[in-house]
Amino acid sequence: MLTFRRFTMIILILLVSLNLWSFVSKKSTDGFIHDHVTLFCGLLLTVYCGISLAMAFLPCTNFHHPVICHGTPDGKSVALTFDDGPDPIKTPLILEVLRKHDVSATFFLIGKNLAGNELLVKRLVDDGHLAGNHSFSHSGWFDLFSAGRMRSEMMETDRLVNQITGKSPLFFRPPFGVVNPMVSKALKNMHWHAICWNIRSLDTIDRDAQKTSHKILRQLQPGAIILLHDHTLFTQHHLDDLISSIKAKGYGIVPLDKLLNIPAYAL
Ligand SMILES: [Zn+2]
Repeated sequence: MLTFRRFTMIILILLVSLNLWSFVSKKSTDGFIHDHVTLFCGLLLTVYCGISLAMAFLPCTNFHHPVICHGTPDGKSVALTFDDGPDPIKTPLILEVLRKHDVSATFFLIGKNLAGNELLVKRLVDDGHLAGNHSFSHSGWFDLFSAGRMRSEMMETDRLVNQITGKSPLFFRPPFGVVNPMVSKALKNMHWHAICWNIRSLDTIDRDAQKTSHKILRQLQPGAIILLHDHTLFTQHHLDDLISSIKAKGYGIVPLDKLLNIPAYAL
């Protein structure tokens, strides 16, 4: 599997080889490689930066860091995950729908949203749902932060969730699903599992709820992790129908720890 480390090594070897070749050709034939070595090095570096950047937006390739995007395909279970909460108005509506269907889900919580929503988060966990970590700030600049700053955000959110629920999340969902070398460094040797998804509902941008539902149902497969958000109109108005349709297709809906067979919290 091509990882960032291996890719960096390959590019370094190519750069060194190119320069050595250029040196040799200079002494012998003064050839083409020598004449264009700067151009080739520039091209290699451009390819390196371009591929590294693109892969940060494709976390399930595991290029920058091992990321879990689905469960095992045994059985017919899927997991619903809700990002960007808690929201004092919208999250309780989701909890009602989940309760109606007797379904447990996973909520990736933003640390800065926890203040004032302590009872809601406690209720969420008491209802059998899982609380995961979705950074503290969910800043638009998060992916440019240093690894140390990312890690302190994650630890702060863990601390707050623990203060409310007595549990420390092991599941971390990177903001915007971006996993770059800094995110990888922040996660290195730490306890979190990076969790993304293999069904992106695009509920934050789709205006056509029926299309969104169809898209999710069309991609449904055993072990799927479905990405939704607490605050979207789709979730508010169509979660009920979505769950009914998923069940009608014979799928069970389980929290992530059951789907992945990995504990959701530190002991
Ligand atoms: Zn998010």
